[in-house]
Amino acid sequence: MKNGHISFWMDRDLDGLQTKRPRLEADLETDVCIVGAGFTGLWTAYLLQRHDPALRIHILESDFVGHGASGRNDGWVSALLSANRRKLAAASGRDAVIEFQRTMIEAVDEIIDILSDENIDAHQVKGGHLRVARTPAALARQEASQRSALDWGYRPEHITMLSRQEADERIRVDGTVGGMFNTTTARIDPSLLVTGLARLVERRGAVIHENTRVAAVAAHTARTAQGQRVRAPYVLVCTEAYSGQIDGMPKRRIAPVNSSIVITEPLAESQWSTIGWNDDECFGDSAHVFTYAQRTADGRIAIGGRGKPYRYGSRTDHAGEVDGKTVQLLHSRLTEYFPDAGEIPLAHAWCGVIGVTRDWCAFVDLDQQTGIGTAGGYAGHGVTTAFVAANTLADRICGVDSRYSRLPWFGHRPPLWEPEPARWIGITSMYGLFGVADTQEERANAERTAPIARFAAKITGMD
Ligand SMILES: Cc1cc2nc3c(=O)[nH]c(=O)nc-3n(C[C@H](O)[C@H](O)[C@H](O)COP(=O)(O)OP(=O)(O)OC[C@H]3O[C@@H](n4cnc5c(N)ncnc54)[C@H](O)[C@@H]3O)c2cc1C
Repeated sequence: MKNGHISFWMDRDLDGLQTKRPRLEADLETDVCIVGAGFTGLWTAYLLQRHDPALRIHILESDFVGHGASGRNDGWVSALLSANRRKLAAASGRDAVIEFQRTMIEAVDEIIDILSDENIDAHQVKGGHLRVARTPAALARQEASQRSALDWGYRPEHITMLSRQEADERIRVDGTVGGMFNTTTARIDPSLLVTGLARLVERRGAVIHENTRVAAVAAHTARTAQGQRVRAPYVLVCTEAYSGQIDGMPKRRIAPVNSSIVITEPLAESQWSTIGWNDDECFGDSAHVFTYAQRTADGRIAIGGRGKPYRYGSRTDHAGEVDGKTVQLLHSRLTEYFPDAGEIPLAHAWCGVIGVTRDWCAFVDLDQQTGIGTAGGYAGHGVTTAFVAANTLADRICGVDSRYSRLPWFGHRPPLWEPEPARWIGITSMYGLFGVADTQEERANAERTAPIARFAAKITGMD
């Protein structure tokens, strides 16, 4: 089994994970300087090019296209809102939050349409997602979550509660007591999407400099670690969970929280028929420390979960190596879910960071005085959210009044995370307490969510 190497997807597509594009070697003037070649940076470049094909766009990437979360995720293109609806509504009103949710739902189809128009095959398919509940407490949370979703912009055809039998008819997960099916989710192969987008913006004239780390940003300027200066009316910091590492950006606005994935070797047909997972829906559970999975186009299961939640001082990994305990935990989830499927060997394990703000609300910011723009805090739901954020940034830059430019996350300033060691203690204990809550609920086959889980969500601002 491979471990690290960024991800199974990137390792497969990038021969030896070499940087392919030349680094920036000299100072530069351009119209838009984008820092970071992940989904946010690349979608922003693409949308700006659609508004104004003549714009000169330069993208500075510390490593290579897809090196961050965009090349490492599980490929759920979901409409899940990276925001605490109640908190956002208190600031911007209920209607704005409902419109935000509807924008997210429609954005999934928009992404698929663009990929088809631009001939990008990222194995995109809209098969929805199934969440199984394996305790009555998890089922009660699903019912509450469905009611709340319908209150906040989803329509009844988007989310249905499933009986145990109906859930089993989709995927036979051991111990299922019921489930929830969400039709709005699609699946992609992350590396095919991020590298496809990079080639697309290059064809349209953008220049990507790999191996070009930005050390600092200031008004209308980005300075690389090698000392080159890029001057531009707009400097867009699209580095999500890594943003605190750049001078000139707030250090504690986003905490990089770890997420880990293992991917199996292709399953035999007999294993698929035992599991009964015959369609392309994504799959997850409703535990507090939840797992999420996709069935890949080549017949593997990529299953992810939290693992070690956070590195002290907001440090980030480089090549995504996962500790043995987390690999074992994710592997054991597979045998726990599918005990009759026999041995399911792993091919690769990796991890990456998701960006989480103190109030669990994503944001988009653009300071017209300094030209510095940024977006982040997608909290692990960034595949669609990055596209929506890119639309907000592009429309704001081009002065287009649209549903995107008006979304309530524009200008939202999440409070800063505490300095260390409080940040480490807070995030690590939250996931520790969630783990305890899961164990309590499973052991007691609990009807109601363990109070300790509510406490954990409160102290870290999730609730
Ligand atoms: C394991 C895992 C599973 C996930 N699963 C899902 C999922 O199934 N569905 C979903 O919606 N979301 C998922 N996410 C989250 C999603 O992948 C991210 O929210 C999204 O990709 C963020 O995109 P981005 O472009 O903003 O950031 P990134 O993709 O992280 O891109 C930032 C880029 O900036 C570069 N960079 C960093 N610092 C600098 C610097 N100083 N100078 C220049 N460049 C720099 C990085 O190398 C990177 O390429 C997952 C994330 C992880 C880690």
